[in-house]
Amino acid sequence: MESNVRVRFAPSPTGPLHIGGVRTALYNYLFAKKYNGTFILRIEDTDQTRYVANAEQYIINALEWCAIPFDEGPGKNEKFGPYRQSERKDIYKQYADQLIETGKAYYCFDTSEELDAHRKAHEAEGKTFIYNWHNRAKGSLVNSLVLTADEVENRINSGDKYVIRFKTPQDEVLKMEDEIRGNITIDTNTLDDKILFKSDGMPTYHLANIVDDHLMEISHVIRGEEWLPSMPLHVLLYKAFGWETPKFAHLPLILKPVGKGKLSKRDGDKLGFPVFPLAYTNLESGDVSRGYKEDGYFTDAFINMLAFLGWNPGTEQEIFSLEALIEAFDLKRVSKSGAKFNPDKTKWFQQQYMQLKSDETITELFLPILAAKGIVIANEDEKARVQNIVSSIKERAIFVADLWDLSSYFFETPTAYDAKNVKKNWKEGTPELMQELVEIIKNIEDFSSTNTEKEIKEWITNKEIGFGKVMQPLRLSLVGKLAGPHLFDIIATIGKQETINRIENAIAKL
Ligand code: GLU
Repeated sequence: MESNVRVRFAPSPTGPLHIGGVRTALYNYLFAKKYNGTFILRIEDTDQTRYVANAEQYIINALEWCAIPFDEGPGKNEKFGPYRQSERKDIYKQYADQLIETGKAYYCFDTSEELDAHRKAHEAEGKTFIYNWHNRAKGSLVNSLVLTADEVENRINSGDKYVIRFKTPQDEVLKMEDEIRGNITIDTNTLDDKILFKSDGMPTYHLANIVDDHLMEISHVIRGEEWLPSMPLHVLLYKAFGWETPKFAHLPLILKPVGKGKLSKRDGDKLGFPVFPLAYTNLESGDVSRGYKEDGYFTDAFINMLAFLGWNPGTEQEIFSLEALIEAFDLKRVSKSGAKFNPDKTKWFQQQYMQLKSDETITELFLPILAAKGIVIANEDEKARVQNIVSSIKERAIFVADLWDLSSYFFETPTAYDAKNVKKNWKEGTPELMQELVEIIKNIEDFSSTNTEKEIKEWITNKEIGFGKVMQPLRLSLVGKLAGPHLFDIIATIGKQETINRIENAIAKL
């Protein structure tokens, strides 16, 4: 049964979603799912000057890749729709008018030049100009608290530009509660009278956000700390409308890995890690920013990492599937202080998930990479062979893309040999020794890893020479460098003929 927990992720489509935004979406999602509630996507696109055409689709694609789908939103279960604020324009004006009628808001006709002049005059005296209780009705400003009703009507009818401002209650101590930060108290006289409705006929973020949260029956507002300063205004707006206030939870900032301050969209390029879930092409500059998906991260690894940026379960456990996160998530365990982003820890999560996934799953992901190298896996036997290879190298891989470098010698005869290692290990006498080894190998019947190991080691022991004298040149011949898993596993995997070919190749080339 659906509960009445209804939360929303309300991004403004001004560019790609940064991981801070994704984390906000994730925490909303986890909270909704934990309480059988509804997770809503609302696009807050009232600021047309900052609108970016491909941003909304990017946000939707990102949520999809993150596997945190919204229950209601643009084009989906639109029972409280539309979910794009630009399509709800007509709704907001009536609410602004309602506040005017009840005396909770007022018209302002001050031009930007006039306001600038006030600002400059204040600055000259070392003060800051704030449009609020102390000056709004004094006559130096041009608004409906100063003008007569007729004057106001005339101005509006003759097309004078105006904005509607909130008349912040005077001399009140506003008590608020945040699910993460606890009680917050503020003196309303320190607040300015924010614009609710702009001269371009559009609501500001504050008005649209409150009206929509109310109409969409939002129960909890879970959003970034940067919105905490707006909370008093929002709570006062709910009161002014006589509406029930939702619960608020302001999430801590995500901080730079080094130094001070908030992780910015630019930090990724500077510090060499993605700050976006998906790669993003800036439509104006054509610049492409990297994304976690394209860098090869698994969704579950990325989500697990993100969940821990500001929350912890209170236990030592670090690996959580999405289901486990839903189960464990608790707003009370979200920290108040900023969460430092850690690129190494992010890789660590990816590495953990690489190991957790079955060889079969990883093999399926590896096959397209092999196909791109021209290695076609035609049947189940060959696939099983690839799976064995994957199993032997997986623990050294962080990303699926690492698998090729770790295993190319299983699929291709080396064409180059590591010069430093050749110099150290391919000595006088080595070609003859290797030629002898070829003869030994030709006579091995059972070509399993254990048996080739047994027979070759017996031969070395009988010759009374050091193992390294044979094993190192052999590895160089088969792999091209002194790397890779257990040598006899390689031998068994590539088979007798290929082993012989590679040794002969090395003798000819080195
Ligand atoms: N549109 C705001 C943003 O871009 C929403 C803030 C809120 O959740 O109230 O983050």
